[in-house]
Formats: sequence, structure tokens, C-alpha cells
Amino acid sequence: MDYGDYEGVMGLEVHAHLLADSKIFCGCSTAFGAEPNSHTCPTCMGLPGALPVLNKKVVDFAIRLGLALHCGISRKSIFARKNYYYPDLPKGYQISQYEEPICTNGYLDIYSDGEKKRIRINRVHMEEDAGKLVHENTIENSSYSMVDYNRSSTPLLEIVTEPDIATPEEAATYLKMLRDILLYLEICDGNMEEGSFRCDANVSVRKKGADVLGTRTEMKNLNSFRHVERSLDYEIQRQIELIKKGGKVVQETRLFNVDEGVTYSMRGKEEAHDYRYFPEPDLLPLIVDDAWIEEVRKTVPEMPVEKMERFITEYGLPRYDVEILASDKELASYFEETIKLFPEAKTVSNWIMTELLRELKDGNVSPKDSPVPPANLAELLVLIQDGTISSKIAKDIFPEIYKTGVAPKKLVADNGLVQISDESAIIKTIDEVMARSPKELADFRAGKEKLLGFFVGQVMKETKGKANPKLLNDLLLKRLKGA
Ligand SMILES: [Zn+2]
Repeated sequence: MDYGDYEGVMGLEVHAHLLADSKIFCGCSTAFGAEPNSHTCPTCMGLPGALPVLNKKVVDFAIRLGLALHCGISRKSIFARKNYYYPDLPKGYQISQYEEPICTNGYLDIYSDGEKKRIRINRVHMEEDAGKLVHENTIENSSYSMVDYNRSSTPLLEIVTEPDIATPEEAATYLKMLRDILLYLEICDGNMEEGSFRCDANVSVRKKGADVLGTRTEMKNLNSFRHVERSLDYEIQRQIELIKKGGKVVQETRLFNVDEGVTYSMRGKEEAHDYRYFPEPDLLPLIVDDAWIEEVRKTVPEMPVEKMERFITEYGLPRYDVEILASDKELASYFEETIKLFPEAKTVSNWIMTELLRELKDGNVSPKDSPVPPANLAELLVLIQDGTISSKIAKDIFPEIYKTGVAPKKLVADNGLVQISDESAIIKTIDEVMARSPKELADFRAGKEKLLGFFVGQVMKETKGKANPKLLNDLLLKRLKGA
């Protein structure tokens, strides 16, 4: 996206729902989609006298993400009350972290137009989610609202960047990479529709090269990658137009209307002091020692970016391939399992990216549950390599192998698909085709060489695609030219 003399300046705040079985300050279940208000207790209902107890797993997850994002892990962090009233917040405050969050000063490297760009992470902190209001139809035309406290106090991590993002594409790339990391770490399911991965964006614009930041607006609840790009692009252009006309950007919270493709003012933006933050008196400061951090460090797997770099240097794959293969931990391990058995990385990569991914996506199947395990894909590639079948036949039978889970060797043998590499058999078929196509033969010999394709097609038809393509080509040229 090019904005002429202007550029966008954006910082993103992501809320990630954690895959912890119980809530952050009580033992209630976090399962999605249960009967309303069935996963509640005095603590997450905010009843007087009920006290919070911190869930250790949430801290483990926060440290895990902090390490993956190269953050410093605070040895002491503080929970704080963020005070505001809303019907879905029964205590009248949200327990969050404010001045002393658990993770600070990290970064995430993204690739934008093939260039590496570092997005600084300001902080990662733990907090609880609010409940959920349920309206008949929409909030504007509903005659009543009901409240479901099942979501109340479910654990969240908020990941806040510095204003290092310049374009909507960079924002989308950052979000995709952050989501990949959360999935790799197995701490969030990344489901945007169910709200497990939500994004708010602070957006401002300035003249290119200026070092002062413009007034920013906050965009709320960008809940799909497509909407992120569209809404940020709209908001940047809106601010530029406004400034060009001599107007001023007002600091406020705006919502993106998906159907109209425009943003609307929702409310004036609150300042931090509006929330009257103060340290949560019911929770002690959280102390994390080195042993705890080292224990968590053992659970952090190789991250997507490092895996991509390794795939490039170790296997000589192009960046395009590794971005697909390494974006999903299971797909990456499928790839590595397969090349142990068939060590030609590019061939394996091509088959995974085309034939396998097509089937997996069609059926919404995860790579680890693929009906074609790495051993079977490798077996198929060996059959091509040793000339037993052509790669055309291999592609033709792949859906069958996928559907039935049968071993490629067996399928090829049972269906008589072994490639014909016997010269005399191929010559016999060529001669039959030539004998019944005198006109085409004469035209070819008179110089219409593109008729070669016609003869290849005819012989392949006769042999049901089984003629060894290279051998057929050589023999056909000789026969056609009268040799
Ligand atoms: Zn509870």
C-alpha cells in the first residue's frame, strides 16, 4: 500500500485466549460453548468475600510466550485492578497487569516483501476476560440483553507492540506470525471466529520522514485477517484525507463496519488514568525465579522463523516453500519425516505443497492425521524415481491413495499401473498408431512438428498413460522420422 507523502504508524494489541482448562483465578472450566452460566463460582461472579487464587499454568504460558518473543521475564510482577463498570464485569474491575507486567521488551521478526523487519514487543501481560452479553439480534435493536458469565475470568495474554508497523500488509503478516507462534507453543487455539485471538490497533499517520507521531485512533475487535487489512487501510486513508483538508484527527475508539467497509466513531478514547489502576490487594506480587524460567524454557520448541531459516540452509529450499512448510508445526514435521525416507527436499516439498495440502485442506484434516503418512508419500516418490510409474500416474492415483490409505506399491501392483519401459512394446503401439493416422504422419513429415503431441497423446491413450514418457518421446521421434 502506498500513501504518497504520508505513512501509517500502527501498534497492535492482541488478546489471546489461553488453552488452560481452568480460569485464571478460580477452578471453573474454560470450555467454550457450554450452557450459559454453568461454569461459574463466587470468585468469577465477583461475589463479596470471594478471593482470587492465581492459576500457575497461566504463568507458565506467559513465560513460554515471553521466551519465544525474546522478552525479558520479570522476576517480580504485579496484578492491578482496572476499574470500569459494564454489566459483563460483575466485580466492577478487571484484574490485569499494568505497571509491572510479566514480560517486557521483546521482538518478532516478520518478512515483508522478502525483507526482514523487526517489530518490537512492548509487553506481554496476563489478565482475565469479561463475561459476555447476549442480545436478541443486535445490540441496537434488541429489547433485552442477557449476560453469560462462563467467559468471566477466562485467562488471556495481551501482547502489545511498539508502533513499528507501517502498512496494513505488515499488520496482517505480524498477526499471522504471532498466531503461528501461539499455535506452535500450544497455548492458544488461534480461533478468530470464536474470539480466541482478537486484535485492537492504534492507528496514526504522519508525513513521511517526520519523527513526531500523529494523533491516534483505536480500532476495536478486528476479528479476521481480511478485515484487519481492509479496516486499517480505510482508517489510514480517512486520516490522511482529513489532514489534507486541514482537519484534525480526534483521539477516539472506532469500529469497522464490515458490510459498509468504513469505520465509525464508537466513543472518546479513555486515558489510562480513567481506569484508576491500583495494585490488586487480594493477590501477592508474583515472584518468578530462574529455576521456574529454565523449567519453562525446556517446553519452548523451535519457533517458525528459526525453522524457516534452518529449512533454507539445511535443505536449500526457496523462501516461498519454507513459509508454507514451517508455518504449521505438524506440516513441518511431516516434511522432515518424509525427507528422512526420500532425501530430495524440493521434490518432497512440491508434493506436500500441491497434492497433499489440496487433500488436507479439502477435508480440513491436520497433517498429523493425514491418511497418507510420510512413509507412504516417500514410497510413492520412490516408485516415480525408479521408473515404476510416471509422475503423471502418481498424481492421478494420489487421491485414491489418500482416500483409501492403501500403500502406493500395492495400489500400483493391484491396478497394473506399472510403467511400460519395454521398448518393443512401445514401438508396437507407436506403429499401430502411425498405421491408422496416415494424414497426420504425412503432415508431420512435411514439417508440422507440433503433431508430435498428437502422437504422444494417442500412444498414451492406448497404453492407459503407462508408457515411460521419456522413452516414448525418443522412440516416437525416431519412428516418425522414418528411422
Ligand atoms: Zn469461577
